[in-house]
Amino acid sequence: MDYRTETLCIQGGYQPQNGEPRVLPIYQSTTYKYDSADHLGDLFDLKADGHMYTRISNPTVAAVEEKIAALEGGVAAMCTSSGQAASLMSIFNITSAGQNFVSLSTIYGGTTNLFAVTMKRMGIEVRFLTPDMTDEEADALFDENTRLVFGETIANPALNVLDIERYAALAHRHGVPLIVDNTFATPVLCRPFEYGADIVMHSTTKYMDGHATVVGGVIVDSGNFDWAASGKYPELTTPDESYHGVVYTEQFGKSAYITKARVQLMRDLGSTPQPLAMFILNIGLETLALRMERHCQNAQAVAKFLEKHEKVSWVNYPGLAASDQHALAEKYLPNGCCGVISFGVKGGREAAVRFMDSLKLAAVVVHVADARTSVLHPASTTHRQLTDEQLVATGISPDMVRLSVGIENIDDILADLEQALAKA
Ligand code: PLP
Repeated sequence: MDYRTETLCIQGGYQPQNGEPRVLPIYQSTTYKYDSADHLGDLFDLKADGHMYTRISNPTVAAVEEKIAALEGGVAAMCTSSGQAASLMSIFNITSAGQNFVSLSTIYGGTTNLFAVTMKRMGIEVRFLTPDMTDEEADALFDENTRLVFGETIANPALNVLDIERYAALAHRHGVPLIVDNTFATPVLCRPFEYGADIVMHSTTKYMDGHATVVGGVIVDSGNFDWAASGKYPELTTPDESYHGVVYTEQFGKSAYITKARVQLMRDLGSTPQPLAMFILNIGLETLALRMERHCQNAQAVAKFLEKHEKVSWVNYPGLAASDQHALAEKYLPNGCCGVISFGVKGGREAAVRFMDSLKLAAVVVHVADARTSVLHPASTTHRQLTDEQLVATGISPDMVRLSVGIENIDDILADLEQALAKA
Protein backbone atom coordinates (compact mmCIF):
# COMPACT_ATOMS: atom_id res chain seq x y z
CA MET A 1 0.00 0.00 0.00
CA ASP A 2 1.49 3.27 -1.08
CA TYR A 3 -0.12 5.37 1.66
CA ARG A 4 1.26 7.86 4.13
CA THR A 5 1.88 7.06 7.80
CA GLU A 6 -1.48 8.28 9.17
CA THR A 7 -3.36 6.22 6.59
CA LEU A 8 -1.21 3.11 7.13
CA CYS A 9 -1.88 3.31 10.88
CA ILE A 10 -5.59 2.94 10.17
CA GLN A 11 -5.78 0.95 6.93
CA GLY A 12 -2.49 -1.00 6.75
CA GLY A 13 -2.26 -4.77 7.11
CA TYR A 14 -5.91 -5.74 6.71
CA GLN A 15 -7.98 -5.14 3.58
CA PRO A 16 -11.28 -7.01 3.83
CA GLN A 17 -12.72 -8.50 0.67
CA ASN A 18 -16.39 -8.34 -0.32
CA GLY A 19 -18.60 -9.26 2.63
CA GLU A 20 -15.75 -9.84 5.10
CA PRO A 21 -15.62 -8.19 8.56
CA ARG A 22 -14.62 -4.50 8.37
CA VAL A 23 -12.44 -4.81 11.47
CA LEU A 24 -9.48 -7.19 11.71
CA PRO A 25 -10.90 -10.45 13.13
CA ILE A 26 -9.32 -12.30 16.03
CA TYR A 27 -8.37 -15.69 14.59
CA GLN A 28 -8.38 -17.47 17.92
CA SER A 29 -7.17 -20.78 16.56
CA THR A 30 -3.94 -22.60 17.22
CA THR A 31 -4.20 -24.68 14.09
CA TYR A 32 -5.33 -24.69 10.43
CA LYS A 33 -7.14 -27.25 8.31
CA TYR A 34 -5.72 -28.53 5.01
CA ASP A 35 -7.33 -30.86 2.49
CA SER A 36 -4.28 -33.07 1.95
CA ALA A 37 -1.29 -34.35 3.83
CA ASP A 38 0.83 -33.32 0.83
CA HIS A 39 -0.18 -29.67 1.17
CA LEU A 40 0.71 -29.72 4.85
CA GLY A 41 4.00 -31.42 3.98
CA ASP A 42 4.81 -28.58 1.57
CA LEU A 43 4.20 -26.08 4.38
CA PHE A 44 6.62 -27.98 6.62
CA ASP A 45 9.21 -27.90 3.83
CA LEU A 46 8.66 -24.13 3.30
CA LYS A 47 7.59 -24.86 -0.29
CA ALA A 48 4.12 -23.35 0.15
CA ASP A 49 2.85 -20.22 1.94
CA GLY A 50 0.22 -20.56 4.62
CA HIS A 51 -0.40 -20.85 8.33
CA MET A 52 0.38 -24.16 9.94
CA TYR A 53 0.50 -23.62 13.67
CA THR A 54 0.03 -20.40 15.66
CA ARG A 55 3.40 -20.69 17.40
CA ILE A 56 4.85 -19.79 13.99
CA SER A 57 2.17 -17.63 12.35
CA ASN A 58 -1.49 -16.63 12.57
CA PRO A 59 -3.71 -14.43 10.33
CA THR A 60 -4.46 -11.81 13.02
CA VAL A 61 -0.78 -11.55 13.94
CA ALA A 62 0.18 -11.47 10.24
CA ALA A 63 -2.06 -8.46 9.58
CA VAL A 64 -0.38 -6.51 12.39
CA GLU A 65 3.04 -7.56 11.11
CA GLU A 66 2.16 -6.31 7.65
CA LYS A 67 0.97 -2.97 9.05
CA ILE A 68 4.16 -2.42 11.09
CA ALA A 69 6.38 -3.48 8.17
CA ALA A 70 4.59 -0.91 5.98
CA LEU A 71 4.94 1.80 8.65
CA GLU A 72 8.69 1.20 8.91
CA GLY A 73 9.13 0.82 5.15
CA GLY A 74 10.46 -2.74 5.52
CA VAL A 75 9.84 -5.91 3.52
CA ALA A 76 8.38 -7.98 6.36
CA ALA A 77 8.01 -8.14 10.14
CA MET A 78 7.64 -10.70 12.90
CA CYS A 79 5.76 -9.96 16.11
CA THR A 80 6.95 -11.46 19.39
CA SER A 81 5.44 -11.90 22.84
CA SER A 82 7.54 -9.05 24.30
CA GLY A 83 10.11 -6.44 23.39
CA GLN A 84 12.73 -8.49 25.22
CA ALA A 85 12.00 -11.46 22.95
CA ALA A 86 12.35 -9.15 19.94
CA SER A 87 15.75 -7.85 21.16
CA LEU A 88 17.02 -11.37 21.83
CA MET A 89 15.79 -12.84 18.57
CA SER A 90 16.94 -9.92 16.44
CA ILE A 91 20.50 -10.68 17.58
CA PHE A 92 20.41 -14.44 18.11
CA ASN A 93 19.14 -14.84 14.53
CA ILE A 94 22.59 -13.94 13.20
CA THR A 95 24.95 -14.50 16.17
CA SER A 96 26.16 -17.75 17.74
CA ALA A 97 28.23 -18.83 20.73
CA GLY A 98 31.81 -17.65 20.33
CA GLN A 99 30.78 -14.52 18.45
CA ASN A 100 30.24 -10.95 19.63
CA PHE A 101 28.35 -7.78 18.80
CA VAL A 102 28.75 -4.07 19.44
CA SER A 103 26.01 -2.13 21.25
CA LEU A 104 25.63 1.50 22.21
CA SER A 105 25.87 1.68 26.01
CA THR A 106 22.92 4.10 26.25
CA ILE A 107 20.14 1.51 26.08
CA TYR A 108 17.23 0.27 28.20
CA GLY A 109 18.42 -1.38 31.45
CA GLY A 110 16.58 -4.63 30.67
CA THR A 111 18.39 -4.81 27.35
CA THR A 112 21.74 -4.21 29.11
CA ASN A 113 20.99 -7.18 31.38
CA LEU A 114 19.96 -9.34 28.45
CA PHE A 115 23.15 -8.49 26.57
CA ALA A 116 25.69 -8.42 29.39
CA VAL A 117 24.40 -11.25 31.61
CA THR A 118 22.06 -13.65 29.84
CA MET A 119 23.57 -13.59 26.35
CA LYS A 120 27.00 -13.94 27.93
CA ARG A 121 25.77 -17.26 29.34
CA MET A 122 24.84 -18.21 25.77
CA GLY A 123 28.46 -17.61 24.79
CA ILE A 124 27.73 -14.32 23.00
CA GLU A 125 29.77 -11.30 24.04
CA VAL A 126 28.52 -7.70 23.96
CA ARG A 127 31.05 -4.89 23.47
CA PHE A 128 29.70 -1.54 24.62
CA LEU A 129 30.26 1.57 22.59
CA THR A 130 29.75 4.97 24.23
CA PRO A 131 28.44 7.84 22.10
CA ASP A 132 31.56 9.93 22.82
CA MET A 133 33.93 7.37 21.29
CA THR A 134 35.85 8.43 18.21
CA ASP A 135 35.51 6.42 15.00
CA GLU A 136 38.94 4.88 15.65
CA GLU A 137 37.90 3.78 19.17
CA ALA A 138 34.64 2.38 17.79
CA ASP A 139 36.47 0.52 15.00
CA ALA A 140 38.77 -1.05 17.58
CA LEU A 141 35.77 -2.87 19.15
CA PHE A 142 35.35 -5.07 16.06
CA ASP A 143 37.07 -8.30 15.14
CA GLU A 144 36.31 -11.08 12.64
CA ASN A 145 33.67 -12.52 15.01
CA THR A 146 31.63 -9.32 15.34
CA ARG A 147 28.18 -9.79 13.85
CA LEU A 148 26.18 -6.55 14.27
CA VAL A 149 25.79 -3.11 15.83
CA PHE A 150 22.83 -2.29 18.09
CA GLY A 151 21.43 1.05 19.34
CA GLU A 152 18.20 2.85 20.34
CA THR A 153 16.84 5.73 18.23
CA ILE A 154 15.95 7.63 21.42
CA ALA A 155 17.70 5.98 24.32
CA ASN A 156 15.64 4.90 27.34
CA PRO A 157 16.05 6.77 29.65
CA ALA A 158 19.18 8.79 28.72
CA LEU A 159 17.33 10.24 25.68
CA ASN A 160 20.43 10.29 23.51
CA VAL A 161 19.45 10.51 19.85
CA LEU A 162 21.18 7.83 17.78
CA ASP A 163 23.29 9.16 14.94
CA ILE A 164 21.89 6.44 12.69
CA GLU A 165 23.95 7.38 9.62
CA ARG A 166 27.18 7.32 11.64
CA TYR A 167 26.49 3.90 13.17
CA ALA A 168 25.16 2.45 9.91
CA ALA A 169 28.43 3.51 8.27
CA LEU A 170 30.40 1.99 11.16
CA ALA A 171 28.51 -1.32 10.89
CA HIS A 172 28.73 -1.45 7.12
CA ARG A 173 32.47 -0.80 6.94
CA HIS A 174 32.84 -3.92 9.09
CA GLY A 175 30.43 -5.89 6.87
CA VAL A 176 27.68 -6.21 9.50
CA PRO A 177 24.13 -4.80 9.87
CA LEU A 178 22.85 -2.05 12.15
CA ILE A 179 19.88 -3.08 14.33
CA VAL A 180 17.89 -0.19 15.79
CA ASP A 181 15.44 -0.33 18.70
CA ASN A 182 12.90 2.24 17.49
CA THR A 183 10.56 1.92 20.48
CA PHE A 184 10.54 5.54 21.70
CA ALA A 185 10.54 7.20 18.28
CA THR A 186 8.07 4.87 16.54
CA PRO A 187 7.93 5.04 12.73
CA VAL A 188 5.79 8.16 13.12
CA LEU A 189 8.80 10.19 14.29
CA CYS A 190 11.68 8.31 12.66
CA ARG A 191 12.07 5.55 10.08
CA PRO A 192 15.62 4.27 10.67
CA PHE A 193 15.77 2.40 7.34
CA GLU A 194 15.81 5.78 5.57
CA TYR A 195 19.17 6.49 7.24
CA GLY A 196 20.81 3.13 6.58
CA ALA A 197 19.66 0.89 9.45
CA ASP A 198 19.09 -2.70 8.33
CA ILE A 199 16.83 -4.18 11.00
CA VAL A 200 14.44 -2.39 13.35
CA MET A 201 12.88 -3.80 16.50
CA HIS A 202 10.36 -2.43 19.01
CA SER A 203 8.83 -3.02 22.35
CA THR A 204 5.25 -2.57 21.07
CA THR A 205 4.28 -2.43 24.76
CA LYS A 206 5.11 1.29 24.63
CA TYR A 207 3.71 3.86 22.19
CA MET A 208 2.55 1.36 19.58
CA ASP A 209 0.02 -0.17 21.97
CA GLY A 210 -0.13 3.19 23.70
CA HIS A 211 -2.63 2.29 26.43
CA ALA A 212 -0.51 0.07 28.69
CA THR A 213 -2.60 -2.97 27.84
CA VAL A 214 -0.48 -5.63 26.10
CA VAL A 215 3.18 -6.60 26.26
CA GLY A 216 4.63 -7.27 22.82
CA GLY A 217 7.51 -6.80 20.44
CA VAL A 218 8.28 -6.78 16.74
CA ILE A 219 11.28 -7.17 14.43
CA VAL A 220 11.21 -5.56 10.98
CA ASP A 221 13.54 -6.46 8.12
CA SER A 222 14.48 -3.71 5.65
CA GLY A 223 15.53 -6.32 3.10
CA ASN A 224 18.55 -4.14 2.33
CA PHE A 225 21.44 -5.99 3.94
CA ASP A 226 23.34 -8.25 1.54
CA TRP A 227 24.02 -11.30 3.71
CA ALA A 228 25.68 -13.25 0.93
CA ALA A 229 28.05 -10.42 -0.04
CA SER A 230 29.10 -9.97 3.58
CA GLY A 231 30.18 -13.61 3.80
CA LYS A 232 29.74 -13.65 7.60
CA TYR A 233 26.35 -15.35 7.94
CA PRO A 234 26.49 -19.06 7.02
CA GLU A 235 23.21 -19.51 8.97
CA LEU A 236 21.52 -17.57 6.17
CA THR A 237 23.63 -18.52 3.18
CA THR A 238 24.26 -22.26 3.67
CA PRO A 239 21.73 -25.12 4.05
CA ASP A 240 19.60 -25.29 7.22
CA GLU A 241 19.48 -28.97 8.10
CA SER A 242 16.35 -28.45 10.19
CA TYR A 243 14.51 -27.64 6.93
CA HIS A 244 15.93 -30.26 4.57
CA GLY A 245 18.72 -27.99 3.49
CA VAL A 246 16.87 -24.77 2.68
CA VAL A 247 19.21 -21.82 2.00
CA TYR A 248 17.35 -18.73 3.25
CA THR A 249 19.07 -16.16 1.04
CA GLU A 250 18.43 -18.28 -2.06
CA GLN A 251 14.82 -19.18 -1.34
CA PHE A 252 13.60 -16.00 0.34
CA GLY A 253 15.81 -13.24 -1.10
CA LYS A 254 15.19 -9.92 0.64
CA SER A 255 13.14 -11.60 3.41
CA ALA A 256 15.85 -14.15 4.28
CA TYR A 257 16.57 -12.74 7.75
CA ILE A 258 12.97 -12.39 8.91
CA THR A 259 11.94 -15.74 7.41
CA LYS A 260 14.70 -17.50 9.30
CA ALA A 261 13.73 -15.67 12.50
CA ARG A 262 10.19 -17.02 12.15
CA VAL A 263 10.56 -20.52 10.82
CA GLN A 264 13.63 -21.40 12.87
CA LEU A 265 13.84 -19.20 16.00
CA MET A 266 10.12 -18.74 16.64
CA ARG A 267 9.57 -22.43 15.93
CA ASP A 268 12.25 -23.38 18.45
CA LEU A 269 12.00 -20.66 21.12
CA GLY A 270 8.25 -20.02 20.91
CA SER A 271 7.98 -16.40 22.13
CA THR A 272 4.71 -16.19 20.24
CA PRO A 273 2.32 -13.24 20.48
CA GLN A 274 -1.31 -14.14 21.15
CA PRO A 275 -3.93 -13.24 18.49
CA LEU A 276 -6.04 -11.39 21.07
CA ALA A 277 -3.03 -9.33 22.17
CA MET A 278 -2.26 -8.43 18.55
CA PHE A 279 -5.90 -7.41 18.00
CA ILE A 280 -5.54 -4.99 20.94
CA LEU A 281 -2.17 -3.78 19.65
CA ASN A 282 -3.78 -3.10 16.30
CA ILE A 283 -6.39 -0.82 17.88
CA GLY A 284 -3.52 1.10 19.48
CA LEU A 285 -1.70 1.35 16.17
CA GLU A 286 -4.76 2.93 14.54
CA THR A 287 -4.24 6.11 16.59
CA LEU A 288 -0.43 6.02 16.79
CA ALA A 289 0.17 9.00 14.49
CA LEU A 290 -2.40 11.16 16.28
CA ARG A 291 -1.13 10.24 19.71
CA MET A 292 2.53 10.83 18.86
CA GLU A 293 1.72 14.33 17.66
CA ARG A 294 0.07 15.17 21.00
CA HIS A 295 2.78 13.42 23.08
CA CYS A 296 5.41 15.54 21.33
CA GLN A 297 3.48 18.81 21.70
CA ASN A 298 2.81 18.20 25.40
CA ALA A 299 6.36 17.07 26.15
CA GLN A 300 7.86 20.09 24.40
CA ALA A 301 5.69 22.37 26.56
CA VAL A 302 6.55 20.45 29.76
CA ALA A 303 10.28 20.52 28.96
CA LYS A 304 10.15 24.32 28.50
CA PHE A 305 8.22 24.67 31.77
CA LEU A 306 10.74 22.53 33.69
CA GLU A 307 13.70 24.32 32.11
CA LYS A 308 12.55 27.59 33.73
CA HIS A 309 11.49 26.11 37.08
CA GLU A 310 13.53 27.07 40.15
CA LYS A 311 13.18 23.61 41.75
CA VAL A 312 14.60 21.84 38.72
CA SER A 313 18.38 21.42 38.44
CA TRP A 314 18.55 20.08 34.88
CA VAL A 315 16.26 19.00 32.06
CA ASN A 316 17.07 16.52 29.34
CA TYR A 317 14.80 16.64 26.30
CA PRO A 318 16.22 16.56 22.77
CA GLY A 319 13.56 19.03 21.64
CA LEU A 320 15.07 21.83 23.78
CA ALA A 321 17.44 24.15 21.93
CA ALA A 322 19.85 23.89 24.89
CA SER A 323 20.07 20.09 24.65
CA ASP A 324 23.35 18.61 23.41
CA GLN A 325 21.15 16.21 21.42
CA HIS A 326 19.24 19.00 19.66
CA ALA A 327 21.19 18.93 16.40
CA LEU A 328 20.71 15.17 16.08
CA ALA A 329 17.02 15.59 16.97
CA GLU A 330 16.59 18.19 14.24
CA LYS A 331 18.03 15.75 11.73
CA TYR A 332 16.40 12.48 12.81
CA LEU A 333 13.27 13.65 14.68
CA PRO A 334 11.97 16.69 12.80
CA ASN A 335 8.38 16.05 13.89
CA GLY A 336 9.05 15.76 17.60
CA CYS A 337 11.07 13.91 20.20
CA CYS A 338 8.38 11.68 21.84
CA GLY A 339 6.83 12.19 25.27
CA VAL A 340 9.71 11.15 27.49
CA ILE A 341 11.68 13.75 29.45
CA SER A 342 14.23 13.27 32.18
CA PHE A 343 15.14 15.88 34.74
CA GLY A 344 16.69 16.38 38.16
CA VAL A 345 14.88 17.83 41.15
CA LYS A 346 17.01 20.18 43.28
CA GLY A 347 17.84 18.36 46.51
CA GLY A 348 18.75 15.04 44.87
CA ARG A 349 17.22 11.63 45.44
CA GLU A 350 15.08 12.59 48.49
CA ALA A 351 13.58 15.65 46.78
CA ALA A 352 12.89 13.57 43.67
CA VAL A 353 11.02 11.01 45.75
CA ARG A 354 9.00 13.77 47.56
CA PHE A 355 8.10 15.26 44.18
CA MET A 356 6.95 11.91 42.83
CA ASP A 357 4.90 11.11 45.93
CA SER A 358 3.12 14.47 45.63
CA LEU A 359 1.91 14.00 42.05
CA LYS A 360 -1.83 13.56 41.62
CA LEU A 361 -2.46 13.24 37.88
CA ALA A 362 0.85 11.63 36.95
CA ALA A 363 1.11 8.09 38.33
CA VAL A 364 4.23 6.38 39.63
CA VAL A 365 4.35 3.24 37.45
CA VAL A 366 6.93 0.90 35.96
CA HIS A 367 5.99 1.92 32.50
CA VAL A 368 6.63 4.59 29.98
CA ALA A 369 5.15 5.78 26.72
CA ASP A 370 1.43 5.42 27.10
CA ALA A 371 -1.51 7.81 26.94
CA ARG A 372 -1.41 8.57 30.70
CA THR A 373 1.27 10.80 32.17
CA SER A 374 3.54 8.70 34.38
CA VAL A 375 6.75 9.04 36.29
CA LEU A 376 9.58 6.80 37.46
CA HIS A 377 12.89 6.90 39.32
CA PRO A 378 15.17 4.74 37.08
CA ALA A 379 18.07 4.35 39.55
CA SER A 380 15.85 2.58 42.09
CA THR A 381 13.53 0.71 39.69
CA THR A 382 14.09 -0.18 36.02
CA HIS A 383 17.86 0.16 36.25
CA ARG A 384 18.44 -1.01 39.84
CA GLN A 385 20.32 -4.16 38.71
CA LEU A 386 23.01 -2.01 37.12
CA THR A 387 26.25 -1.19 38.89
CA ASP A 388 27.11 2.50 39.46
CA GLU A 389 29.54 2.25 36.57
CA GLN A 390 26.86 0.83 34.27
CA LEU A 391 24.42 3.51 35.44
CA VAL A 392 26.84 6.23 34.38
CA ALA A 393 27.49 4.53 31.03
CA THR A 394 23.74 4.24 30.47
CA GLY A 395 23.40 7.97 31.22
CA ILE A 396 21.54 7.79 34.55
CA SER A 397 22.13 9.87 37.70
CA PRO A 398 20.64 9.15 41.16
CA ASP A 399 18.46 12.29 41.04
CA MET A 400 17.01 11.50 37.61
CA VAL A 401 13.22 11.49 37.30
CA ARG A 402 11.86 10.01 34.09
CA LEU A 403 8.62 11.66 33.11
CA SER A 404 6.47 10.14 30.40
CA VAL A 405 4.18 12.92 29.25
CA GLY A 406 0.76 11.67 28.22
CA ILE A 407 -1.92 13.08 25.96
CA GLU A 408 -4.09 14.73 28.63
CA ASN A 409 -4.78 18.47 28.51
CA ILE A 410 -1.45 20.28 28.83
CA ASP A 411 -2.75 22.74 31.45
CA ASP A 412 -3.75 19.88 33.76
CA ILE A 413 -0.32 18.24 33.36
CA LEU A 414 1.53 21.51 34.11
CA ALA A 415 -0.67 22.24 37.13
CA ASP A 416 0.10 18.80 38.59
CA LEU A 417 3.85 19.25 38.09
CA GLU A 418 3.71 22.74 39.62
CA GLN A 419 1.96 21.63 42.81
CA ALA A 420 4.26 18.61 43.24
CA LEU A 421 7.42 20.64 42.67
CA ALA A 422 6.20 23.08 45.33
CA LYS A 423 6.31 20.17 47.82
CA ALA A 424 9.66 18.74 46.67
N1 PLP B 1 13.38 -1.64 24.37
C1 PLP B 1 13.06 -0.49 25.00
C2 PLP B 1 13.59 0.81 24.48
C3 PLP B 1 12.25 -0.51 26.14
O1 PLP B 1 11.93 0.64 26.76
C4 PLP B 1 11.78 -1.76 26.63
C5 PLP B 1 10.94 -1.84 27.85
O2 PLP B 1 10.82 -0.89 28.60
C6 PLP B 1 12.14 -2.94 25.94
C7 PLP B 1 12.93 -2.83 24.81
C8 PLP B 1 11.66 -4.27 26.40
O3 PLP B 1 10.32 -4.44 26.01
P1 PLP B 1 9.23 -5.29 26.80
O4 PLP B 1 9.03 -4.66 28.14
O5 PLP B 1 8.04 -5.19 25.89
O6 PLP B 1 9.74 -6.70 26.90
